[in-house]
Amino acid sequence: MARDTSPKCKQCRREGMKLFLQGERCLAEKCAVERRSYPPGEHGRGRIKQSEYLLQLREKQKARRYYGLLETQFRTYYEKASRAGGVTGDNLLRALETRLDNVVYRLGFAASRAQARQLVRHGHFLVNGRRVNIPSYGVRPDDIVTLKSGSSAEPLIRDATDLTAAVAPWLQADHDGLTGKVLKWPERAEIDTPVQEQLIVELYSK
Ligand code: SF4
Repeated sequence: MARDTSPKCKQCRREGMKLFLQGERCLAEKCAVERRSYPPGEHGRGRIKQSEYLLQLREKQKARRYYGLLETQFRTYYEKASRAGGVTGDNLLRALETRLDNVVYRLGFAASRAQARQLVRHGHFLVNGRRVNIPSYGVRPDDIVTLKSGSSAEPLIRDATDLTAAVAPWLQADHDGLTGKVLKWPERAEIDTPVQEQLIVELYSK
């Protein structure tokens, strides 16, 4: 499966904010955004001419990197969201949030989305008692996500739960039992993704 292999800290510096792509390192003083808060590259500290298009593009890139998706995958989410009826931006964020890899991360069972994706892909999690190894699998209200019994990843996952300050309000996590439940569909106000989704909709609907 294709994935973005560009350096993660550079992705954050390009977007000018912490996207929390590297787990524990993001909480430490080593964070590159804190040490070098300007875009990477030779012209990183030069003046960048702002335009409406650039703002929209940066917002889309930020969201795409935040969820660790490639352009084609991200665009497919947008197209489904625009066909679904209702507010396209809300549909888009809801679909991204309810991906199984994101849910595992939001429950605190992984230190980053990249780690959550790898754990899912290696078959460490069950959804409603059945093994699901598809990171893009969309969870629904009342779904139960559990660690597979006897999983070799348990120590790693327990370490990740120690880093988790809070679980998203639309989820419920039991960090002792390593079980989580989807309480409801997430509302926009419950999604703390730092993007203005309207700019993404404007970019794609041109
Ligand atoms: Fe981003 Fe984390 Fe790197 Fe900081 S340490 S720049 S938050 S990936």
